[in-house]
Amino acid sequence: MTNIGFIGTGVMGISVVEHLLKNDHAVTVYNRTKAKAETLLTKGAVWAETPQNVAETSDIIFTMVGYPVDVEDVYYGEKGIFKADVANKVLIDLTTSTPSLAEKINQTAKEKHAEALDAPVSGGDLGAKKGTLTIMVGGDEQVFNDMKEIFQLFSSSLELHGPAGSGQHTKMANQIMVAGTMTGLTEMLVYAEKAELDLKKVVKTLSGGAAGNWSLENYSPRILKEDYSAGFFVKHFIKDLSIALDEAEKMGLNLPSTKLAKELYEQLSQKGHAEDGTQALIKLWWENE
Ligand code: NAP
Repeated sequence: MTNIGFIGTGVMGISVVEHLLKNDHAVTVYNRTKAKAETLLTKGAVWAETPQNVAETSDIIFTMVGYPVDVEDVYYGEKGIFKADVANKVLIDLTTSTPSLAEKINQTAKEKHAEALDAPVSGGDLGAKKGTLTIMVGGDEQVFNDMKEIFQLFSSSLELHGPAGSGQHTKMANQIMVAGTMTGLTEMLVYAEKAELDLKKVVKTLSGGAAGNWSLENYSPRILKEDYSAGFFVKHFIKDLSIALDEAEKMGLNLPSTKLAKELYEQLSQKGHAEDGTQALIKLWWENE
């Protein structure tokens, strides 16, 4: 049994911690809003008052917060992880964040005789619940191999993509793809509805052909039930697309359709839907009907 620390018990973090607990690991948790960790405390997790305290009592420390600024805070803040003696510990950031911050954390960890991996995930809230996330890892091969067993408790696909930052770059590649599948899904449904087709039938037929994809499979049932709750927050998708476009610009790349997807999601956010799930994009059309 390894002592595991987990910081950030939101939509995704809660489910990941549940898998760790189910597999008899001792888990110490911290979240900005304590109420969101309560269900985990009833299931055996132990509360710590600060990220520093989590790091002091754990051998492996996971973080899964919202934005890069939150990652900065939990690692480098006044009561952050790096205020603890982290020698010989492994720090794993599951947040979707920037490649440069992942490199900085890895560097600081090494200076303090610790190890760090960037390990953003894909698979949504359902993937987290089922323990079938895809994990994209950046960092040292030996550390990755040592952590495989723990990662496998909540994932079904796991790959090391290169040195620190490579996990985040892979996640950006993932989000560039998802931008296309979400706008495609939305415009497909808007079109099919105007053509007075049976939407359930259309979704079923398309799923079996060349248009089949994860967004269609997972989000069209929610849209057809008018369930726009998050899964994956609109505000977080805008964050991800901003990081992807910044990184692309640094590499001298122009990604016009990713830019357009970001603009559409910003419009949706400005209409008051930042806290909805990304499937709410269709409200740009259907809310005005
Ligand atoms: P979430 O529900 O907002 O969870 C984030 C949690 O981190 C919240 O409970 C938040 O606390 C906590 N937090 C934020 N800043 C903190 C800080 N400085 N100190 C301590 N706790 C802090 O979001 P989520 O959906 O779980 O997503 C988490 C990350 O995974 C994001 O980067 C997201 O982009 C990524 N991701 C999400 C999905 C998905 O489908 N949901 C899929 C793949 C990747 P509060 O309760 O106080 O807000």
